[in-house]
Amino acid sequence: MSSQLHNLSAATKYRKNSIDKITPPDLEEDFGVNTFSIDEMRKRLPKVVLQGMINCITKSAPIDTQHAEIVALTMKEWALERGATHFVHWFQPLTGGTAGKHDSFINPTDVGKAITTLRGSDLIQGEPDASSFPNGGLRATHEARGYTVWDPSSPAFLVENENGSFLAIPTCFVSWTGEALDHKTPLLRSIDALDRQARRVLRMLGENVDRVQTTVGAEQEYFLIDEEYYYRRPDLFNTGRTLVGDAPPKGQQLDDHYFGEIPSRQLACMLDAEKELYRLGIPVKTRHNEVAPSQYELAPVFETSGIASDHQQLIMITLKRIARKHGFVALLHEKPFADLNGSGKHINWSISTDSGTNLLDPGTTPHTNLTFLIFCTSVLRAVYKHQDLLRISVSSAGNDHRLGANEAPPAILSVFLGSQLSGVYQKLINGDELSSDKDADLFLGVSMLPLIPKHAGDRNRTSPFAFTGNKFEFRAAGSNQSLAFPNVVLNASVAESLRDFANSLRDALNGKDKTDPQVFKTTVLEILRENAKEFETILFEGDNYSDDWHEEAEKRGLLNLRTTPDALSHFDSEKNSTLFSSFGILTVAELKARQEIALEQYEMAIDIEGQTLKNLTQTQIIPACFEYLNELTQTASQARLVGMNVTPKSPAIRTATNVSKHLEALIDAVEELTKELDTHVEDLQENVQHKKDGVIPAMLKVRSIADELEGIIPQTKWPLPSYSEILFIH
Ligand code: ADP
Ligand code: MG
Repeated sequence: MSSQLHNLSAATKYRKNSIDKITPPDLEEDFGVNTFSIDEMRKRLPKVVLQGMINCITKSAPIDTQHAEIVALTMKEWALERGATHFVHWFQPLTGGTAGKHDSFINPTDVGKAITTLRGSDLIQGEPDASSFPNGGLRATHEARGYTVWDPSSPAFLVENENGSFLAIPTCFVSWTGEALDHKTPLLRSIDALDRQARRVLRMLGENVDRVQTTVGAEQEYFLIDEEYYYRRPDLFNTGRTLVGDAPPKGQQLDDHYFGEIPSRQLACMLDAEKELYRLGIPVKTRHNEVAPSQYELAPVFETSGIASDHQQLIMITLKRIARKHGFVALLHEKPFADLNGSGKHINWSISTDSGTNLLDPGTTPHTNLTFLIFCTSVLRAVYKHQDLLRISVSSAGNDHRLGANEAPPAILSVFLGSQLSGVYQKLINGDELSSDKDADLFLGVSMLPLIPKHAGDRNRTSPFAFTGNKFEFRAAGSNQSLAFPNVVLNASVAESLRDFANSLRDALNGKDKTDPQVFKTTVLEILRENAKEFETILFEGDNYSDDWHEEAEKRGLLNLRTTPDALSHFDSEKNSTLFSSFGILTVAELKARQEIALEQYEMAIDIEGQTLKNLTQTQIIPACFEYLNELTQTASQARLVGMNVTPKSPAIRTATNVSKHLEALIDAVEELTKELDTHVEDLQENVQHKKDGVIPAMLKVRSIADELEGIIPQTKWPLPSYSEILFIH
């Protein structure tokens, strides 16, 4: 059966039996039922233990080991009541995914008897093999010991499936020598670092708070395609993206998909996934069609960054799993289809106190809001100083296809502030009297309609790092990545700016009358002005997609690290090592290990893509072309047999010549690709360069010829479902 017919049957089959099966969730009753939440603890834990847990969650106070014993017992009871049989120390190794080993609650006693247990020590510490996860040389094969350590700040949760459930305990993953082997550990360390510096600054402003947290809400883009197409495309199931595929006549040029009506089969799938996410206490809030056909977006309400990061992993896992139930595959790759928009993950990020005051909320008159100006300035300085790290934090083979491709911000970091705030900073830099200009409310020309208060600035979706009213939005992250490292970089670099600000203020006030508010304010503004002059070049309000900006950015001396290899070479610089080690977030060894893992991941991703393309071309595309060629030559010889005049201009011969010409070029290109893939480069950095400069161009060459052939070979003979089928039949 041709691939197209196959999927027509899939799409029609669906209509018969699927839509009415999803019962909508009870939003209030179901929310969080699968988490061992503070509410659940309140029902079960003795008061003092409960308070200990609350202090731990909201203020990062350490947990008492005796309390852990009681928490473990209650957690087990709760899980057993809910049908769980096993528990898992759930962690986030540097693969970017999640991992864990299932342990049964069972504990044999007398011969033939057993009880269930979860001891405090089981809760606090696990011991998985550390040598089988990426460790960047921190662990050798024979040095296998590693630990998972309970993270009480992130709620334990139940993972349900058709045949039962298990209890997942969020943990950090470290080596026997205490080095972080995961994404979670440095994230928690960076949250602490930012908390310490932010509270110090607030104290200088006369405000005492218990805890400062960063908040994160990440918008997740993804594609939903029919699974039958997926399995007919070895490129998709081996690499997550299509390695060949002729551009469809109708792509996204009509702008008819964005915010359009969500088809009912997809809507059922989304609702089903959301239902599960609600049960896990994940506040998914918005859903809509994205720009490309079959592309969608989902966003939760923001949470504190440790929890948001765990929840983001769960969102990705759940989307993938539930999609399969509905006969779809959720593609989270950053660029599944050439010539169509790829998928990103916008990281909305802010800083707030434990009582919920958003420190990046400017209010209506930002120029008078000293706290806001200090925190905002710290962020701007952090972005300026650590452009390279922010770029590194979103680097991957997949994301290289997006950044700078007219659908996502370029690889150059800059900040968009919006007209009001941009005006304030301009005045600050010029040394003018500060003021905040605000536009009048909008009148729509209809007396019945209300006046609309305008935001303090327009949107600029081309900016990689935009101020959006009371938070920043970092838009360069890839759809498939963990939130953790970009947040580590943000937290660490802002902590550094806050520390430097606090030191400068302390020194500048030395010998002055600190109690005089006017003296205090002038001193603060003078420091902010010095900062602003330093980072002025990072501010840009214009079109980040334009060529002019690339030229302008170069003149300004901003970094433009176009590819992952370019970015990763900056990873272990003196500046970066100092930043992370001075706050105890990553040691030099941990940093170097991360660099090595990222290099390896890039190198392996490209190698897998190259091998897949080679096999696909040799075993499917070339044979299909030969089949057609054979058919054409038979047509010609049969014509001759029945006495027709066959010349080089005859249709069959002309077509055969064209196919043959392309086929020859394709075979040459595959040979070239094979040569590049077989080239052995010992040194990791050099191997990465070779993948970028040798393998990727060879793949593009194969692709361009294969895509031309797709337009020549009969559709019934082409072995792969086309872009049009994948994107429009579902
Ligand atoms: P957009 O204009 O980009 O659609 P939304 O207001 O819908 O912005 O928010 C997008 C994301 O930003 C959501 O996940 C939302 O929860 C998150 N967000 C809103 N306020 C904050 C904040 N203070 N800190 C972090 N994220 C936030
Ligand atoms: Mg947004």
